[in-house]
Amino acid sequence: MDERFSVFPITEEEETQERTSRQDSGSKKKKKKTCITANVTNCKYDLVRSSLEAVNIFILKEESISLQAAYLFWFDSVVPMEKFQEMKAYQRINHFPSMGEICRKDYLARNMAKMHRARPTEFNFVPRSWILPSEYNLLQVYAQDCRKKKRKFPTFIQKPANGAMGNGIQLFRNAEKIQPCEQTIVQEYLDKPLLLDGYKIDLRLYCLVTHCDPLRAFLYKDGLVRLSTEKYVNPTEQNMDQMFMHLTNYSVNKQNEKFERHSDYDRGSKRSIKSLLIYLKNSGYDTATLWRNICDLVVKTLIVVSPHILHSYRMCRPGQAPHSDSVCFEILGFDIFLDRKLKPWLLEVNRAPSFGGDEKIDRDIKGGVIRDALRLVNIRASDKKRNLANQKAEAQRRLLRPSQSRLSTGNLSTSAQRRFIINRRKEELKEKLGWVRKEAAREEYEDANLGGYARIFPCHDRTQRERYTSLLSDAFQLFLQSKSAPFQKNIIDHYRAHNHCG
Ligand code: ADP
Repeated sequence: MDERFSVFPITEEEETQERTSRQDSGSKKKKKKTCITANVTNCKYDLVRSSLEAVNIFILKEESISLQAAYLFWFDSVVPMEKFQEMKAYQRINHFPSMGEICRKDYLARNMAKMHRARPTEFNFVPRSWILPSEYNLLQVYAQDCRKKKRKFPTFIQKPANGAMGNGIQLFRNAEKIQPCEQTIVQEYLDKPLLLDGYKIDLRLYCLVTHCDPLRAFLYKDGLVRLSTEKYVNPTEQNMDQMFMHLTNYSVNKQNEKFERHSDYDRGSKRSIKSLLIYLKNSGYDTATLWRNICDLVVKTLIVVSPHILHSYRMCRPGQAPHSDSVCFEILGFDIFLDRKLKPWLLEVNRAPSFGGDEKIDRDIKGGVIRDALRLVNIRASDKKRNLANQKAEAQRRLLRPSQSRLSTGNLSTSAQRRFIINRRKEELKEKLGWVRKEAAREEYEDANLGGYARIFPCHDRTQRERYTSLLSDAFQLFLQSKSAPFQKNIIDHYRAHNHCG
């Protein structure tokens, strides 16, 4: 059967076959159960291993890896491009190609600046940024302008473009002291944070992307709140180097003896987002709007990366039909800053968020993030067999398909030409119907297996969907220009058609 017409997660036909084979196995010898296997040689986290086991995924031993192809590959870090090309249609890998376009600080700054220029009111959630050394002069002009015109003395924060865990970060009250170092970015320091018990905080949220062709994404409804360990004071020349006050990274603050570990998730230096939302609600804040704004920020960030990952994905997987099961999925860690007015700001996106389980709160929240993601990704033992059957069917169809020369309508009579066009149209409609059925079944499966996640794209609200489609259309034009016009048109047409179905 053509994979494009198969109904996800399993067709009635296949279900009957599976049932019959189960009944047969009762009378004949017992059938060996196929299990879903994972290759975790490139993963250092015990929490990932225990989460895989919790959802009945079997971890392959080092010695059997060369003998048995795994269903799932888990990489902590960046995956080489060839790996995406090598993957069989039934296999899954926990990264997308080109996700670095939002996960490296300089690329994020560059891409967000482009979107900000095109849609300033929509893309205003990233602090003003400069990529060094190329934008060093622009930074100096801005700093001088602020002093002259606005009589404002902004603080700046300089970070390595590819850094993490607070390494190499410096704050400056005076922009002239900033060095135009290679591979760094400078941001305007957001100096009016929302404080929790007097401490600065940031939020770590987890977003699961299961498909890029077209996009499907989910946001976990809990996460971590990381607190600084010295009470916050407005930045001054004297406190610029107090990293326990200005940075909220766990890796930085755990070095402070004042770091508080607590078994309750609403106390200490690491708390849960759920507990923060309860606290804010009880303090009179509009947490429903805050959560909506956070979802909006995450979706818009994915909109920025969508053209990049879709383009790379199609380049790596040329034969793969749109709407088919994606071989890639990814859990992204979003670091979000809240200001005093409760506006969320995007600080960075991590494509290799830490799955370390130092404390119970880490194991609880991150464990849920991984397990529920694996359920949503829905790797099935039957996928391998189905993939083989699809390959055979496709090969057969190719053999039987009339050759290109016979397809040319030039040698046909007028009525035969008309028949040919009608048949082709019928095939196209059948294909589209197959996609719609597939998406409906996929959505049904997801709705029953969301766990702690909420679907953020495609979203239910029609007005919102239309807004996102318009932003996607701009993003495709900006980032892919006329290079890939036909596929740009076909993906945007898909999103538009989806808006009319809801
Ligand atoms: P890293 O990848 O090294 O963790 P981040 O960009 O996440 O770098 O910054 C580390 C910390 O610095 C953040 O968690 C936050 O507390 C603080 N920070 C970063 N950028 C800003 C900013 N523009 N305004 C205020 N605080 C910031």
